[in-house]
Amino acid sequence: MSEPAGERDSRVRSEKAAELFEAWFGGGPDGVWRAPGRANLMGEHTDYNDGFVLPFALGQGTAAAVGRRAGRTLTLCSAQEDGEAEIALDDLAPGRVTGWAAYPAGVAWALAGAGYQVPGARIAIDSDVPVGAGLSSSAALECATALALTELAGLPVSHPELAAIARRAENEFVGVPSGIMDQSASLLCQAGHLLLLDCRSLETTQVPFVPAAAGARLLLIDTRARHELTDGEYGQRRAECEQAARLLGVPSLRSLTDPAETDQLADPVLRRRARHVVTDNQRVLEVVTLLDSDPGPAGLAGTYRDIGRLLIQAHHSLREDFEISWPEADATVEAALAAGALGARMMGGGFGGSVLALVPADGCGPVREAVTETFGQHGWTAPDFLDAEPSDHARRLALQWMGFEGGTQCRYERKSRISRVRSPSCGTPSTVSLRSAWTCPRRRPRCSTPWTGCRWKSAPAGGSAR
Ligand code: ADP
Ligand code: MG
Repeated sequence: MSEPAGERDSRVRSEKAAELFEAWFGGGPDGVWRAPGRANLMGEHTDYNDGFVLPFALGQGTAAAVGRRAGRTLTLCSAQEDGEAEIALDDLAPGRVTGWAAYPAGVAWALAGAGYQVPGARIAIDSDVPVGAGLSSSAALECATALALTELAGLPVSHPELAAIARRAENEFVGVPSGIMDQSASLLCQAGHLLLLDCRSLETTQVPFVPAAAGARLLLIDTRARHELTDGEYGQRRAECEQAARLLGVPSLRSLTDPAETDQLADPVLRRRARHVVTDNQRVLEVVTLLDSDPGPAGLAGTYRDIGRLLIQAHHSLREDFEISWPEADATVEAALAAGALGARMMGGGFGGSVLALVPADGCGPVREAVTETFGQHGWTAPDFLDAEPSDHARRLALQWMGFEGGTQCRYERKSRISRVRSPSCGTPSTVSLRSAWTCPRRRPRCSTPWTGCRWKSAPAGGSAR
């Protein structure tokens, strides 16, 4: 049986993380963990208002190859970043670690705060979640690290508790005031399902969702405009929502169920913000009701058309009432709908990132073409497209690192054209192919000598046990 594309990508990415581990640190990792990025079908800026969200895990994810080390230090490298970070586990406090390493460092800090001491470890990261595209590469990084460190140490932490810990890392250590959705999606979503998350009670429900069964597909369009969650706008929207709730005398906007209740707000801006939150919560529940009513295969097409209509309404609400859309997103939605999409909306915190489109299965090509053409007309950087398929939550991969057999011998030694050597400058072990050119994977200053003729070889298909 052929391997599904998503699983193959995840396997390859995980093998790459394991290869990076060996290239950077020497030796094989003790294990590889992988956490997915996420998309959100409905419910934007509802999470911190105690409302509902409806995310799903992506096939794209972040892999962490991890090995124990002596001492109380985390040493980190990432295929997406230069250099290495060393973090003293006993000296962690918000503000002490900056840059990308703050995410895994924050996870170790939040775990310690919850009473879970993690051991010293070496961690190599590799990811195919685009960074800053609103697909939560940050939560994927946190969750892969959190799961790896706790499972490596044999610490019994449930996935919901781990999600709360990873969120604390992002909020308090990194300083990004995001809600619980991203980490919950990465740790709790199931393949073929949406995750209905009640952000007040943290109750979750798995909602079956297989667009392909209805002849539909989900397309993510990365508009390449970048957002910055630490920006003032996000904090301002949060503050406006809190103020609206205070003025209306409710603990949070979640308490409102009728958009007309927001008419009592005298300030038109606060009224619009509150109206978006109330109507978006309603749209989440409407999608769930539509999917729950199970019309059978014959009626599914109608259900997906209705979901498409709700996506369009959501985009209008985010653009007009919450005022967080951006020109590339508006143009993408317009072009996608004109090319036959059932629905589309901006996704994420706003002002940059991705658009989610629901498209008839045979309509992806025309939508891609129409959006690309629109971007060309505006002179914008061409968008990226990702197929989105509701996928499984974070887990350890049964990947057996094959770099060494019996702990000492390299599998490549037996191959005719590939042999094992060490870097002349820093001693990093590597494999050599006579055909290609590469630079030393450690990328350290003392090891900047280009290795003409070197490269790391991917594990061959079937070379990893699972
Ligand atoms: P996103 O929408 O992708 O979550 P964020 O701004 O919240 O965007 O998080 C992106 C940040 O997360 C990056 O700037 C980087 O610091 C960190 N990050 C994400 N993925 C990786 C990775 N594979 N390697 C290193 N850092 C990463
Ligand atoms: Mg993020």
